[in-house]
Amino acid sequence: MDSNIKSIGLLTSGGDAPGMNAAIRAVTRAAISNDIRVFGIYRGYKGLISNEIVEFKTNSVSNIIQQGGTILKSARSEEFMSEEGRKKAYKNIQKHGIDALVVIGGDGSLTGAGIFANEFNIPIVGLPGTIDNDLSGTDTTIGYDTALNTIMQSMDKIRDTATSHERLFFVEVMGRNCGYLALNSAIAAGAEAAIIPEISTKKDQLTELIEQGFRKYKSSSMVLVTESKITGGAINLAERVKKQYPQYDVRVTILGHLQRGGSPTAQDRILASRMGVAAIQALLENQRNVMIGIKENEIVYVPFVRAIKKDKEISKELLEVLRVTSI
Ligand code: ATP
Repeated sequence: MDSNIKSIGLLTSGGDAPGMNAAIRAVTRAAISNDIRVFGIYRGYKGLISNEIVEFKTNSVSNIIQQGGTILKSARSEEFMSEEGRKKAYKNIQKHGIDALVVIGGDGSLTGAGIFANEFNIPIVGLPGTIDNDLSGTDTTIGYDTALNTIMQSMDKIRDTATSHERLFFVEVMGRNCGYLALNSAIAAGAEAAIIPEISTKKDQLTELIEQGFRKYKSSSMVLVTESKITGGAINLAERVKKQYPQYDVRVTILGHLQRGGSPTAQDRILASRMGVAAIQALLENQRNVMIGIKENEIVYVPFVRAIKKDKEISKELLEVLRVTSI
């Protein structure tokens, strides 16, 4: 294939997600097998600015596919938000003779990648690395399936105590403004409801749930809540229920950062490996400023502007499955 790319830089940025290491491994090995040199950039854009850049060989990524987190470390960089910071980053790219970048991260990281690519005319391909599943143009993101399984396992444990003490549990999970983690983990864990940002703007979901009398036939219940300004969070919702229904024994669990950790599931390892190989393929095809996605099991190239649009719709079918199975 006719491409001028002889070396790439690879970084992980924003919140870490399980499967990022599988992606690092796949990108590195796919590049090397196409005679492209790989430079690992540590600590995301921060390390690009401070020149924490090391050449990777195939064995640099040995024994990492099963590890959570990211061997390249991740960071958030205020400096990269300014033109001056990005100029410093570009100088380091030139210094190492890097022709293109592969950026693994969430919507912020891909927003930064788009700006940087346009400013300095450098080809960048992104991989969706975030447990939130909030990027458009891909069915799932790297890390989402592992987080979902972690939440489900935690919910199974919470259910034991909820049942024994006949309690109502509000369990807060990550997702920012995207309710997929809460909705799918509610289905998988057999929870009663999910309070998610996509629908709480239309109607107060808590009031609706209570009006429906969702505890009519049950002595214990679990409600998933997306951590978000729109839902108000689990503590806030629990306080409201306690005031209105003092007879309920209400508890809150915030799962927090444990949702991000752990060894990636098979699905995340395979997703990350496919996307990593596709990133190099995309660069060889002279694609630029695109995120690799998988839609209906096919690799797709999604322009950054489309990927970060925040218009991923919540599945009505999933909402219905939760409603029907939780009566
Ligand atoms: P997660 O979804 O897991 O939080 P993320 O990639 O969205 O991951 P952010 O903290 O939003 O995480 O972004 C990571 C980094 O991307 C920022 O610290 C910053 O360096 C860069 N970035 C984000 N937005 C911009 C922007 N508008 N311009 C330049 N760089 C940006």
